[in-house]
Amino acid sequence: MPDASHGPASRQPDVVSLDVAIVGGGLAGLYAIHRLRGQGLKVRAYEAGSGIGGTWFWNRYPGARCDVESLEYSYSFSDELQQEWKWPERYGTQPEILRYINHVADRFDLRRDVQLDTRIVSAVFDGAANQWVLRTADDETIQARYCVMAAGNLSTPRVPDFPGLGSFRGKWYHSGLWPHDGVDFTGLRVGVIGTGSSGVQMIPIIARQARHLHVFQRTANFSLPARNAPMDPTRERNHKAEYPARRRAAADTPFAIAGHPKPTHPALAVPDDARNAAYESKWQEGGSISFLYAYTDLLVSKEANDTASEFVRNKIRGTVKDPRTAELLAPKDHPIGTKRLCLDTNYYETYNRDNVTLVDVRSDPIDRITETGLRTKGEQTFELDAIVFATGFDAMTGAQREIDVRTSAGAVLRDHWEGGPLTYLGLMVSGFPNMFVVTGPGSPGVKTQMIASIEQHVDWIADCLDHMRARGLDRIEASAQAEAAWVGHVNAVADSTLYPLANSWYMGANIPGKPRVFMPYVGGFDRYKRHCDAVAAKGYEGFALSRHVKAAV
Ligand code: NAP
Repeated sequence: MPDASHGPASRQPDVVSLDVAIVGGGLAGLYAIHRLRGQGLKVRAYEAGSGIGGTWFWNRYPGARCDVESLEYSYSFSDELQQEWKWPERYGTQPEILRYINHVADRFDLRRDVQLDTRIVSAVFDGAANQWVLRTADDETIQARYCVMAAGNLSTPRVPDFPGLGSFRGKWYHSGLWPHDGVDFTGLRVGVIGTGSSGVQMIPIIARQARHLHVFQRTANFSLPARNAPMDPTRERNHKAEYPARRRAAADTPFAIAGHPKPTHPALAVPDDARNAAYESKWQEGGSISFLYAYTDLLVSKEANDTASEFVRNKIRGTVKDPRTAELLAPKDHPIGTKRLCLDTNYYETYNRDNVTLVDVRSDPIDRITETGLRTKGEQTFELDAIVFATGFDAMTGAQREIDVRTSAGAVLRDHWEGGPLTYLGLMVSGFPNMFVVTGPGSPGVKTQMIASIEQHVDWIADCLDHMRARGLDRIEASAQAEAAWVGHVNAVADSTLYPLANSWYMGANIPGKPRVFMPYVGGFDRYKRHCDAVAAKGYEGFALSRHVKAAV
């Protein structure tokens, strides 16, 4: 756990002047400090939390764990680091990952350039001075030539605006704002609202503590067994012996994860029994990449996808004893993999417990929170001592939109993105010079092993700044044409897949009123990286690079 004695940088009273201001002290912000400072730049990261770690600092709900294997979900920039760190389990728990992040911060002396408890509320580009001016909630001013937005994709927790929450006499929590000293649900009547990755991970654990658990499900999600286990020492040894080669191999895959052979056949080219045997083997192996990688066309052909979806639905029917509950849990409104596929430990089994009840709030939506629980539109009432909102985040654009980002020329990011986020390569926004975004909309970040994407984005930004410095340049801006072409490409790629068939946070569908635009780039990490490298090799094609000339006084 982060500890004040580690000595984070203290607040600066006067205007701070930097080469690069970084918004966010999670995995992206920390790597940006390391990489950019290594180039001799004066950098500082501003973090709203009282500790570093971003997602892994905030999401402390019971069972929080990464759904990518630990040996993959880690930084690759230092071979010493990846050799020395020991992951105790196949998938890292939240406390373990937070420990790792704190270790990295200490090992690379990153803390002195992180300012905690500091929320950036505005960022204004002053064209005449060619610099960003950031303001904190405490009215501190920061001037910087460049601004790197590393504020995360799933960092703006969302509690639905049910009327009556203020009157609730019990306690309520959101998965992404979990109390640091934990919550003991022993003996309580608990309601969990939401069955995405967070809900699916916490439900089995809360069920073991609670007197009774009601799960309020609007959309059934597909979940696969994680098959978590203690780290196999042989596997760890072999993996570490080949780490650099494995990282290179990962960069050549769509998900930036190595070790899963590329699929060779479309699903329907294989006889039914062989296909089901392949799904069974993936099911037993655990993990989502392996399953979705079983055939070439699971995310592009509905007929192919139906075979995988039905396989999992049958697993659910075979696990959950009450047929009505099983049918409610079996997703039928979206193809498997088009919403984020969940990984679980005993999720479906949990519904066989006497103290767990699944409530369908699709057919009878939640109407209001009451003093003693909640009520549905159909007048069902539930008496609850605690309510847990596992209701997700204003994903991908929420963190940027919370900051008032504008320029002296009159551009306002919230307006620019009113119809959906517009970026070039997910890295820059036209009209907003010298502002980079890490793993934002238009980038493949959320569809990949996130740390690989973070490193790729930050490396690209660092190389770009180096390129500019070597040529005496200090201003870069994405062209409107390049941005429009990239957004068109992102949409075209998404439209060639099954992803748009689901009402997912990838589409902004979980936030009432948010534009329905498919935000991540699903062309794959490998293809994206090659494209970014080619853009750089062509002198940063699609960007205007220039030297700022100060206006004569
Ligand atoms: P989420 O996937 O957006 O799920 C939110 C859940 O709340 C959904 O079931 C949603 O239903 C429900 N919900 C929202 N508003 C509701 C309302 N008014 N009434 C009833 N139900 C409502 O959020 P999440 O589970 O926090 O996960 C977000 C993402 O974070 C994941 O997709 C994943 O990328 C990441 N994550 C990863 C891990 C991991 O690595 N294992 C763990 C947690 C989170 P609808 O589907 O109908 O909208």
